[in-house]
Amino acid sequence: MIIKEGIIASPGIAVAKAIVYEKIIVDIRKGHAPDAQLEIEKLQSALKASAIQLMSIKDKAVAELGQEEGAIFEAHAMVLEDPEFTEGIETEITENGYFAEYATELITNRFYDIFDAMDDPYFRARAADIKDVGTRVINNILGVSQADLSKLKDDAIIIADDLTPSDTAQMDKDKVAGFATNIGSRTSHTAIMARSLEIPAVLGLCDITKTVKNGDLVVVDGIDGSVAINPDEKELKSYLEKQQKYNDYLEELSALKDQEAVTLDGHKVELVGNIGEPGDVTGVIKNGGQGVGLYRTEFLYMNSETMPGEEKQFAAYRSVLEAFPNGPVIIRTLDIGGDKKLPYLPLEEELNPFLGLRAVRLCFREVEMFKVQLRAILRASVYGNAHIMFPMISSVTEVRQAKNILKECMDELSQANIAYDKDVKVGVMIEIPSAAMTADIIAKEVDFFSIGTNDLCQYTLAVDRMNQDVSYLYDPFNPAILRLIKQVTAATNGQPQFFAGMCGEMAGDPLAAMLLLGLGLYEFSMSALSIPRIKKLIRSIRFEDAKKMADTALNLESGEAVQEYIKDTLEKLKITI
Ligand code: PEP
Ligand code: MG
Repeated sequence: MIIKEGIIASPGIAVAKAIVYEKIIVDIRKGHAPDAQLEIEKLQSALKASAIQLMSIKDKAVAELGQEEGAIFEAHAMVLEDPEFTEGIETEITENGYFAEYATELITNRFYDIFDAMDDPYFRARAADIKDVGTRVINNILGVSQADLSKLKDDAIIIADDLTPSDTAQMDKDKVAGFATNIGSRTSHTAIMARSLEIPAVLGLCDITKTVKNGDLVVVDGIDGSVAINPDEKELKSYLEKQQKYNDYLEELSALKDQEAVTLDGHKVELVGNIGEPGDVTGVIKNGGQGVGLYRTEFLYMNSETMPGEEKQFAAYRSVLEAFPNGPVIIRTLDIGGDKKLPYLPLEEELNPFLGLRAVRLCFREVEMFKVQLRAILRASVYGNAHIMFPMISSVTEVRQAKNILKECMDELSQANIAYDKDVKVGVMIEIPSAAMTADIIAKEVDFFSIGTNDLCQYTLAVDRMNQDVSYLYDPFNPAILRLIKQVTAATNGQPQFFAGMCGEMAGDPLAAMLLLGLGLYEFSMSALSIPRIKKLIRSIRFEDAKKMADTALNLESGEAVQEYIKDTLEKLKITI
């Protein structure tokens, strides 16, 4: 049986026997406990036991997966220490007389709902962490220990409803061949984990836990997003061939790691990575990225409970710069507002947050906050090839305003005899149509452009990038977008050292690569995993052909026509993507 239409969370083909990982459903008594003091004691010892378990899981996670994965469990431990969480549970016991497990469930759900209602996918995903901690405490109150995946005899595919960080941390990583789950998204923990373990994962399969039985032979097809259960001989043979083909392809890609991104006729471009935190540089380096084309610094702010100070920011920026002794590192200044909020910086509700006080607009209002970040970047700039990039620029006036504040910071540092790179490159994101249309004017003020197609599409096509109902209109191949891209790259022509890059998702789309090359894009910035594939593609294209493709595409009438045309051309030129 083949189950289709799962969400591809991590590519590849895995074939192994299934382990259906089902949690023991605990019996939560919802009534009133006879002895509140006894419940408080049960809670206290469960909190202690949970803290000890979390520390040992954290050590295992750090040893096997690195600091970043370990940090998840530090965050879990912090939930346990959060008085709002623990005192909230105690209050439910002492004031309402509930059993400890019920009180814990109530408060966990309350916290969960708050995070789950947030617009930002990062915070929404943190709701799962809260649930994970709550479940651990409840299990400890009731003395329940869940199934153990830490010692597996053979290679296995884990079939689960969903996998929490605690589940994956204790797993026997050498034996886990793939994941298939009922729920989950590309940004869920299971997905992130599968990508970092580089094992195939297909999520969102609704009731895969009911369909698969322990010991079934399962194929997780992370290329097509399907799962095959007990395939017959012929099917299995074809999956094994597909797996071999994919592995050969990966090997071919990894052989390109240290090769340049250069076309067959010698046109060189730059392939760099998008990162959200310093730890992400490992993936960029591993995949052959030459530097960082977009460091989304807002995660540094969003992962912090208070406004991160200059020292903390300096340390983060410095570590990224030092990871790339030669390559450029483009540090984008704070892009908060829209769907991204900071708990410690309350902002008024807006009717249209994406058109409101976002990114530089907010920084111009909170100048001191902005200057802390700029000083931190400037101080770090002596440790590498730093580029400063301002997001959500709509006009040259805003560029000048941002540069004036930067100049103030430089003067302050000079007066204090603090070193910084006086020639630090300054650029802007082109993600608002007005900026794209005046790129020739803005060009006189900056050293580089980076086109943010994620927002450029939303603002040009009047399509909310988060709204599923209108997602069919969200099309980076729309000729309107292509014409704006062309206007931006054209504005850099003839000026030495000036480059136009792209850090929106389109830059990592294999179908777009040849077109973008032809439109004159110099720098392509994307998630680390996309780099090898785009590099292979660029190395199989002629720049002359790409320019012809771009000229034709600019005059087609719709995004669909552009995509069809690209597919036809690639087929004619025998270029596989
Ligand atoms: C973009 O808008 O294309 C972009 C890269 O920025 P973000 O996705 O962070 O808004
Ligand atoms: Mg953007």
